[in-house]
Amino acid sequence: MRGVWVVASSAVLLLSACTPAAPEIPAPSQSAVESPSPTPSPTFDSTLWSIDEADSIWVVADKLRPLAPLDYVPDDLIALEVPHAYDARLRMSAAAMYTKMYEAAAAEGIDLVAQSTYRSYNTQVGVYNHYVATIGQTRADLQSARPGHSEHQTGLSVDIRAKDGKCTINQCFADHPAGIWLAENAWKWGFHLRYPDGKTDITGYMFEPWHYRYVGKGLAAQLHETPNITLEEYFGLPAAPDYAG
Ligand SMILES: [Zn+2]
Repeated sequence: MRGVWVVASSAVLLLSACTPAAPEIPAPSQSAVESPSPTPSPTFDSTLWSIDEADSIWVVADKLRPLAPLDYVPDDLIALEVPHAYDARLRMSAAAMYTKMYEAAAAEGIDLVAQSTYRSYNTQVGVYNHYVATIGQTRADLQSARPGHSEHQTGLSVDIRAKDGKCTINQCFADHPAGIWLAENAWKWGFHLRYPDGKTDITGYMFEPWHYRYVGKGLAAQLHETPNITLEEYFGLPAAPDYAG
């Protein structure tokens, strides 16, 4: 339907642009009026922002795409003023939209807590080394990024839990009312479920129903149209199941 609409409308544009007196445009036939008219969605420009620059809201960081520089620090981190654990900071735009999302969820009886937000390179060194020491490197690499490869270092990612503390950083969060609410609604505030179920071979991480990445409303809405899509798939990037070396 969209193709037909585009062709028809460009023909009209062409005529009106080239002809001094607009020709009589045939009235739509009765059947065309009765059929539901397609709603042309505005064309989304998937090249609008960089996916390579560390300070781009579309930056794709994964096991094959380290941040550049490796010790990148966002320059617009601000503290979250809604319930959180630890020192909670996100980049300004992500913080503003997270706050709005928190308020919308609360209005529906869903109490969210930002469990983990921005993590510096040095913090990630500690987190990653702790995992390696406790569960070994293979399992650590499925759960925790090596420093310089973590989305948390972009200041655009947030691990979210429920106020009741149930299923915190656990896959059962997917079935918790808070996890269900986020899966259905987070896109409206520009957040995307970054590590979906069944996509470990692409993202390199196990299903993390708590990890949301701010990408802005436009891209989040695009991503929402395809269930469980990853940033790698959307941008046509290679799967990143493991580090290059
Ligand atoms: Zn996370």
